[in-house]
Amino acid sequence: MSQLDRYYNYIDGTWKGADNWLMVADPATDEPYAEIAEAGIEDADAAMAAARRCVASGELTSVRPAQRVTWLLAIAEEIRALTEDAARVLCHENGKSLDVARGEFEEAARYFEYYAGMADKIEGTSIPLGDDYIDFTSYEPLGVSVQIVPWNFPPSICARSLAPALAAGNAVVIKSPEISPLAMTFLMTACERAGLPQGAVNLLCGKGSVIGAHLVKHRDANQIVFTGSVPTGQRILRDAAERATPSVMELGGKSAAIVHADADIEQVIDSVKTGIFFNAGQVCSAMSRLLVHRSRLDEVVERVRELAEGLSIGPGIDNPELTPLVSRDQLEQVEAMCRRAIEAGATCLTGGERVAGVKGYFMQPTLFTDVAVDSEIFQEEVFGPVQVIHPFDSEDEAVELANGTAFGLVAGVFDGQLDRALRTARRLRGGQVFINEWFAGGVETPFGGVGLSGFGREKGQEALYSYVQTRNIAVRLKGA
Ligand code: NAD
Repeated sequence: MSQLDRYYNYIDGTWKGADNWLMVADPATDEPYAEIAEAGIEDADAAMAAARRCVASGELTSVRPAQRVTWLLAIAEEIRALTEDAARVLCHENGKSLDVARGEFEEAARYFEYYAGMADKIEGTSIPLGDDYIDFTSYEPLGVSVQIVPWNFPPSICARSLAPALAAGNAVVIKSPEISPLAMTFLMTACERAGLPQGAVNLLCGKGSVIGAHLVKHRDANQIVFTGSVPTGQRILRDAAERATPSVMELGGKSAAIVHADADIEQVIDSVKTGIFFNAGQVCSAMSRLLVHRSRLDEVVERVRELAEGLSIGPGIDNPELTPLVSRDQLEQVEAMCRRAIEAGATCLTGGERVAGVKGYFMQPTLFTDVAVDSEIFQEEVFGPVQVIHPFDSEDEAVELANGTAFGLVAGVFDGQLDRALRTARRLRGGQVFINEWFAGGVETPFGGVGLSGFGREKGQEALYSYVQTRNIAVRLKGA
């Protein structure tokens, strides 16, 4: 008999176990931490049917929008009440620091508050066609939104899509990641306590290639919101094409910060610390490339090396500056990519391998210079605490280097000259550009990619319109 805590799927307002249970390890110790019911195809079908019934009942969709405001605000309050317990679970299952885990639930609560503020303001327009007609548009919910979540920020990414979907009146079926699925269940508890209609929200944990693929191809799926890697996103797009299901794709990145000659180096260093070492670099919008004007290169390299070598490393529960990677697989992939970079001729200034002599999945903070711009380490996402530092001589060259990958998620500019910073920012490829602070912005600011980083926008007012479809009604007036 297993002694581990057990977590359940949430289907049609009920917590459900399974024949198979997936073990979740603690990345800080490599020990089993808990287990979660592995959903099967019949669970996925039950969740989709429940969501469809909820849509058909009109309980979520046809109510006065003020009711949805009330539900969303109640969910935010319940999330806050659950945060301390939920953050500890997230910290143990994911490796991230306790403070980051707490922040993630605070952000999740903010998404519900933010979209609560919009739920009763989804207003259409009236279109003048002369006295013989009345014409108006309305924004209608899509129906059932299938949302597939990655492991790096499960509760906050889940809330990022769930809150606007509910605000717009959609029922939702969520697929949690196989790695780090536990803390997301607390969001379901919050929804349950807030009194959402039965079937409005469903959560399944299961294999992506089985449950995820089944949901994507399901005839009742009216939308797919995917956050994850490029290959999975491409696969999902091919599957979604079968039914022409509308999709939002939030994929990976290889984002660059440009440090101009007049940059404030303290601002740069503060931003590097969060930009590449926050959540152990397992961030889609990580600052994985630092492009530095040649006149400041030596100084920046020295300061970043000092920063990397001085970071405290340890289990997330102790709130260190650098936490373990999420899994052994992830650690092996990051280490292998560093090895290939060295074989390809890059100079490894510091790090480059796992932390020796510990049981958890700890990767050393790693910096590369002398990197060829067409090499893997310059072009591809690492998803770990690994940064490339590269010089440039002119603004044009910096822009070309920053834009010179297949991705386009975010970018950054550091400069004391605001006019040059803005000019550079306008030329950068990506959905969001930060000036003088990496990760500036919040739940209020639209976020999303171009190129291989995906399409569609999450966060901000704009994201709400990813969860509705426009209907136009044109009326010919009799005897006008
Ligand atoms: P992943 O693509 O391996 O998995 C993401 C999710 O997709 C998981 O829930 C997985 O089970 C599911 N999945 C796998 N195969 C599937 C299939 N055939 N059909 C349907 N679902 C399937 O990604 P990951 O390793 O969990 O996450 C890391 C990646 O996510 C990185 O590339 C990162 O950049 C990206 N990411 C992007 C954003 C963003 O907002 N742009 C945010 C976080 C992470």
